[in-house]
Amino acid sequence: MTTTHFNIAILPGDGIGEEITEQAVRVLNTIEPYMESVKFHLDYQSVGAGEFLLNGDPLPSSAFEACKKADAVLLGAMGLPNVRWPDGREMAPQLDLREQMDLYAGLRPIYLYHGSDSPLKGQSPGSIDLLIVRESTEGLFSSRLNERIPNADEVRDTLLITRKGCERIIKVAFEEAMKRRKKVSLIEKSNVLPSMVFFNEIFFEIAKDYPEVEANSVYVDAASLFLVKDPARFDVMVTENMFGDILSDLAAGIVGGMGMAPSGDLGEDAAVFQPAHGSAPDIAGQNIANPVATILSLALMLEWLDHPQTIQAARRIQNAVVSVLQNPDNRTPDMGGKLSTVSITDLIIDQL
Ligand code: ATP
Repeated sequence: MTTTHFNIAILPGDGIGEEITEQAVRVLNTIEPYMESVKFHLDYQSVGAGEFLLNGDPLPSSAFEACKKADAVLLGAMGLPNVRWPDGREMAPQLDLREQMDLYAGLRPIYLYHGSDSPLKGQSPGSIDLLIVRESTEGLFSSRLNERIPNADEVRDTLLITRKGCERIIKVAFEEAMKRRKKVSLIEKSNVLPSMVFFNEIFFEIAKDYPEVEANSVYVDAASLFLVKDPARFDVMVTENMFGDILSDLAAGIVGGMGMAPSGDLGEDAAVFQPAHGSAPDIAGQNIANPVATILSLALMLEWLDHPQTIQAARRIQNAVVSVLQNPDNRTPDMGGKLSTVSITDLIIDQL
């Protein structure tokens, strides 16, 4: 069998980014020898608020080119609250990457590993198992680079919904549902916003191509309630950028918190994988950050690389995480446990 080489850009970023990325790379280094005909080349790039402080650009063009050239990107976390553009916004090169590489589909799997991780009563492993598919290139975030008019008493942010943007994200949602429990919920606000009426129409047009999949639409406010009262009703949730941003944090909250939420931002032939959380500067450098979301993001990346051996490696990582987390004592402090970043990774590595 010929050897397949994958070039992975590694962007540790800011805050806890470096320490959690280091753990994911340890997992990758451990699992690589099991993949006899796959080799990885890791290309480290400095991106983020720290890079801005050093060189004046949070996403240097050399790093951007390295990401474009790579087969996939593994990113830690970016941004620091006290490093901002003159207009007050935080540096967010991860959003620039999404937009410039047209990574339109944000996949955020949410899975409960142990009942005691959820603030909700009566949950058991796997009783919360859903996938948020977040449109990542338009929606309300499309206004983020708008210039503010100095001294104006009014500021508007536009929620952009295009047919192209809707069609491609809705198709991803239905394709993902075909691999799961075959149910897609569009999360929208068509009782108020014309853009959401449009989103809804396109959703039900595309639903006709997937007769095996149950399709429904739910207002975003009701969806927030259902996520807390009855999360099992959801399989795949597809939504615009800002709703997806907010619901992702809520959904992470019902399975233990941000440290448990992996993500993949996918385009047609490029992808960035990163934990759904930010750089958590309040706990950086203390060896207490939860690396599970990043390790699960690595597993998503291996699955996406779509080689039989990387798919098998992804399963191995997911199974190792399941096996470690079935003991509720195996938790970092954010989830009420005592394990350090490194020691929970050691346990996962032992199970590979
Ligand atoms: P962003 O807007 O970039 O997503 P944020 O400001 O919403 O970032 P996060 O950095 O995601 O905030 O984290 C919020 C808080 O959650 C952190 O301050 C930290 O205490 C906690 N947290 C986030 N990720 C982790 C993690 N991996 N391990 C432990 N605690 C975490």
